[in-house]
Amino acid sequence: AALNKILDIKGCIRLFCRVRPFLSTEKRRIQQPLLIESEKIVIKSGGHKKEFGFDKVFPQEATQEDVFVEVEPILRSAIDGHNVCILAYGQTGTGKTYTMDGTSESPGTIPRVLKALFDETSLESSTSFAFSISMVEVYLGSLIDLLAPKPSCRSYAVSKCNPTIQIDSKGSVEIEGLTEVQISNFTRASWWYNKGRRVRSTSWTNVNETSSRSHCLTRITIHRLGYALGAKAEVSKLWMVDLGGSERLLKTGATGQTLDEGRAINLSLSALGDVIAALRRKKGHIPYRNSKLTQILRDSLGDRSKVMMFVHVSPYEEDVGETSCSVSFAKRAR
Ligand code: ADP
Ligand code: MG
Repeated sequence: AALNKILDIKGCIRLFCRVRPFLSTEKRRIQQPLLIESEKIVIKSGGHKKEFGFDKVFPQEATQEDVFVEVEPILRSAIDGHNVCILAYGQTGTGKTYTMDGTSESPGTIPRVLKALFDETSLESSTSFAFSISMVEVYLGSLIDLLAPKPSCRSYAVSKCNPTIQIDSKGSVEIEGLTEVQISNFTRASWWYNKGRRVRSTSWTNVNETSSRSHCLTRITIHRLGYALGAKAEVSKLWMVDLGGSERLLKTGATGQTLDEGRAINLSLSALGDVIAALRRKKGHIPYRNSKLTQILRDSLGDRSKVMMFVHVSPYEEDVGETSCSVSFAKRAR
């Protein structure tokens, strides 16, 4: 009974930590402030020792396949009709985009999900499926439609065609004006997804600058059509989110636009943290309203949905402060 209770409290939110390996271009440091003990992260700094527990910790040598093993059940839930949300959190440079997009040699979560989606549903004979994809970037409180047919609508300056969030009386979210493309196979799905990624990177002068100051959200909508006469299509959403960098900008001496961008990201990440913490505590009021990010994800971050968050951390000693903040963020949600 006690175990059941724990499982129930943890419910629909699973928290993972992924430690980035040292890259071949980096000088390997000898001293590591970060230890992994079973499913715990232990941080040693200045004679103090802090411990943080996760559902699972992916060490430096963990592969994209290892990560996908944990994603598969949640993908299954989405196919079965649940709204689902997969979030990549962490300081810039710790591997959020690597986990979500990956590289051509080592594809990440999104391409693997797209592949598995078609593979798995093709085996089901009692249900037919239809899928669509949308990609939206949230930057300084604006929504940018990454798959918009008109190039001018994919720009950051234009406000006329920025999509807007609508929430109905049942709490369902609709993003008005957001392009939704039907995808009938993996090849088409990848084509659109890569297009969205390209749009995201070309609308900025520097890719790394971009991704650290905006959130990139990919949505797969799943329509299930039962063959029973008169059956209505069931719709579920699968969100995969590459969040903006969680680093504290005030410390880095940012000014002007950079500071505004940093503040916007920090505010929306703390709003996300508040929502997740409230969900974990099963508190009555869930504060979705405080950011565009949590408004968009509202019906995929609730009681009946499943959430998984990957908290990414750096292996470097000089990043230990940020690492500690990132794992504390996760701890608040436990
Ligand atoms: P973020 O999106 O959090 O800013 P990136 O995903 O861009 O970070 O990662 C920074 C660099 O580290 C990239 O060159 C990326 O390919 C590499 N990287 C990150 N995580 C891993 C990993 N687990 N294995 C190999 N390379 C990684
Ligand atoms: Mg990134």
